[in-house]
Amino acid sequence: MTSAIDRSSAFSAAEATTNNTRRSINRFCARVFRTRGRRIGSGMGGVLEALWGYYTNNWLRRASQSEVELAWFPEHQYHDFACVKPNAEWHPATQSGELFRIEVKSMNEDAEESKAHFDVLAGELDPFDALVLLVWRWKSVDRWHVSPFVIDIFFGPATPVARLRDELHKTRGGSFVDRNSCPDACPPYLCEHHGEPLNEKGTRERATGPDTCKGPSVSFAANFGGMLRMLKTNSSDARTALRTERERSDVAHRYISFIHQHFPDEERNHYLVPEWRRLVCCATIRLN
Ligand SMILES: [Zn+2]
Repeated sequence: MTSAIDRSSAFSAAEATTNNTRRSINRFCARVFRTRGRRIGSGMGGVLEALWGYYTNNWLRRASQSEVELAWFPEHQYHDFACVKPNAEWHPATQSGELFRIEVKSMNEDAEESKAHFDVLAGELDPFDALVLLVWRWKSVDRWHVSPFVIDIFFGPATPVARLRDELHKTRGGSFVDRNSCPDACPPYLCEHHGEPLNEKGTRERATGPDTCKGPSVSFAANFGGMLRMLKTNSSDARTALRTERERSDVAHRYISFIHQHFPDEERNHYLVPEWRRLVCCATIRLN
């Protein structure tokens, strides 16, 4: 296993490429992906996620101090990329040769609802695992044509965002399966559902949740971990939980700020009218 120092510096090296990677993707898209129509639900998000991997790799190679590269997972699984040592064996099953893993998500700023889901279980994440979120939109490149344009990229450790998500899930009446009281009544040592999210009605949120927790009309609810939806705060408990996590963790704060910056309705809806009034009042007093 690689040392924490190696892993930490590999994480920083990848994070440091973020702005260059964004510019490279946009230059490539403006040159190659020129089209008409501004299609939403085009699958373009998946293409941008792959481009993120290629360009991050390019920038990592250019950085002289960097002795790492990205590998694309060969099979379908939760993570997209692994940060690995070049010229060394890499075994995804045992994680040997690996420094950390990366999940890349994308959201179109103009889409009504994002399909991006961050629904990996907190217990499946390593502290160095990264979450990357691209926010993009179609941008005019001439009078007739548009191309995909990445507005901003969030790059941060995934664990604090998972904790924020889970705390808010509980404030909505959601819960997590405990292997000692699994709804499928599995023996604890055999239970594979530990940590699986259930919604307030007890319906499983993921296809891998307990069989007895299927919904009346759906196999699973699939609301858990929506990149915007997970920050919704419709109760006083939820607002408190969001603010507590935001104060507790700089990463949670960065993630909330990132979403609020690019999806201002989310910030508007988080605060109550009296809070906005108080804010305006304070600002007015300061101006005077
Ligand atoms: Zn179970």
